[in-house]
Amino acid sequence: MRQVSTEEREAIREGVRKICAEFPDTYWREIDKAFDYPQTFVDALTQSGYLAALIPEEYGGAGLGMMEAAIILEEINHSPGNGLACHAQMYTMGTLLRHGSEEQKQRYLPKIASGELRLQAFAVTEPDAGSETTRLQTRAVRRGAKYIINGQKIFISRAKQSDLMLLLARTTPYESLKNKTEGLSVFLIDMREIGGKLEIKPLEMMFNHHTNILFFEDVEIPAESLIGDEGKGFRYIIDGWNAERILIASEAIGDGRWFVERAAKYASERVVFGKPIGANQGVQFPIARSYAHVEAAAQMRNTAAEKFDRGQKCGAEANMAKLLASEAAWEAANACLDAHGGYGFAREYDVERKFRETRLYITAPINNNLVLAFLGQNVLGMPKSY
Ligand SMILES: Cc1cc2nc3c(=O)[nH]c(=O)nc-3n(C[C@H](O)[C@H](O)[C@H](O)COP(=O)(O)OP(=O)(O)OC[C@H]3O[C@@H](n4cnc5c(N)ncnc54)[C@H](O)[C@@H]3O)c2cc1C
Repeated sequence: MRQVSTEEREAIREGVRKICAEFPDTYWREIDKAFDYPQTFVDALTQSGYLAALIPEEYGGAGLGMMEAAIILEEINHSPGNGLACHAQMYTMGTLLRHGSEEQKQRYLPKIASGELRLQAFAVTEPDAGSETTRLQTRAVRRGAKYIINGQKIFISRAKQSDLMLLLARTTPYESLKNKTEGLSVFLIDMREIGGKLEIKPLEMMFNHHTNILFFEDVEIPAESLIGDEGKGFRYIIDGWNAERILIASEAIGDGRWFVERAAKYASERVVFGKPIGANQGVQFPIARSYAHVEAAAQMRNTAAEKFDRGQKCGAEANMAKLLASEAAWEAANACLDAHGGYGFAREYDVERKFRETRLYITAPINNNLVLAFLGQNVLGMPKSY
C-alpha cells in the first residue's frame, strides 16, 4: 500500500463525486423500478479504476488503502446511487490477495483490476446455517484433479453479474471435526468454466440487490480453484471481516449524509402554517440528532480504517463503526422520511428508495446482534451466547 496525501484523498473524493454526478436520481429511480442492474454506472466506476482501489499496483490496481476505499464507497452512497451493486469485489478480493498463491494472484487480479473479470459474488449463507457459518453443509469433495460440489446457498448477491465467485464449502464432515471452525474451504470459481449444474434463481427482495438462491448439482471445478489450505476457509473468511465492516460502515455513512442533506433542504423550503417546517423543533431536532450520530460514526470508521491501514488490530473499531453507522443511517432515514411527510412515500422524491436500501446495513452482511455479541464477548470478555 502506498502513502496517500490529504490532497490526493480529497481528489479521490472529488473524482468519485464527478462520476456519480453523471448518474442522477432519475437513473437510480428507473433502475429500481425496472428491478434492473446499474450496468452503465458499474462500467464507469470500473473504467475509472476506483473499484480496483485495494488491488496492489503490481497486480494492476491502484494500491490504495482502506481509508481511500472507504471514501469511494461513502461517496457513491452519498450520491443518489448505491455501492451494493459492485462493492463485493473490494472486500472479497482480499481473500485472494492474502491467502491465494502467487500463480492465482497473477492469473486473476490484473483482470479483476481491468474489469475483464468480475468478482462480485461471495457465497457463504445457507438456508440451514444462517449466521452460524460453521454449520454450513454445501460439500466439496476432492476427486482426482477436481472438486465436486453439491448443496445450496441462499441470498447470494450478483451471481448473475459476476464471472468469479468466492465459495465457502465443507471439505470435512462436521461430525468428524474436533475443532468445529475447521473443515471448511474457500474456492475461487470461474462460473464460465464449470462442469455439472449450477442453477442461479433470482429472489424477490425488498429492493433489487440482485440476490439469488444457488443450487449446486455435481458441479465440477478444477482442484486449483482452492484458495490456501483445505480446511482453513473459515479462518480466511474471518480475516476479511474487518475490511467488510469498515466498507459497509462507509456506505451507511454516505447514505446518512444523503438523508441529512435532503431532509435539511426540504425542511428549510417546505412552508406549512406560514413558516418552513424546519423551524419547528419536532422536525429540526431529529435531523440534527441523526447528523451528529452519522458524523460520530464517521469518526469511528476513520479510526478503524487508519488502524487497518497501519496493520494494527481493529476488530473492535471496525465492528463499532458498522454498528454505529448502520444505526445512524437508519435514524437519518427516518428523520428524512418524517420531514417529507406524505412526499417521503412518493417514488419521485427517492427517499423511500434509499430508505429501503439503507435498512439492509443493520441486517447484512452481518446482523448487528452478532456485532454486539462480538463486542460483548470478544472485546469485553462477557460469557458467550453461542
Ligand atoms: C439483500 C441481502 C443480500 C445478501 N447477500 C449475501 C451474499 O452475497 N452472500 C452471502 O453469503 N450472504 C448474503 N446475505 C445473507 C446475510 O449475510 C444473512 O442474511 C445473514 O448473515 C444472517 O443470516 P440469516 O438471514 O439466516 O439469519 P439468522 O442466522 O437466521 O438470524 C436471524 C436473527 O436471529 C439473530 N440471532 C441469531 N443468533 C443469535 C445470537 N446468538 N444472539 C443474538 N441474536 C442472534 C440474528 O442476529 C438475526 O437477527 C444477504 C442477505 C440479504 C438480506
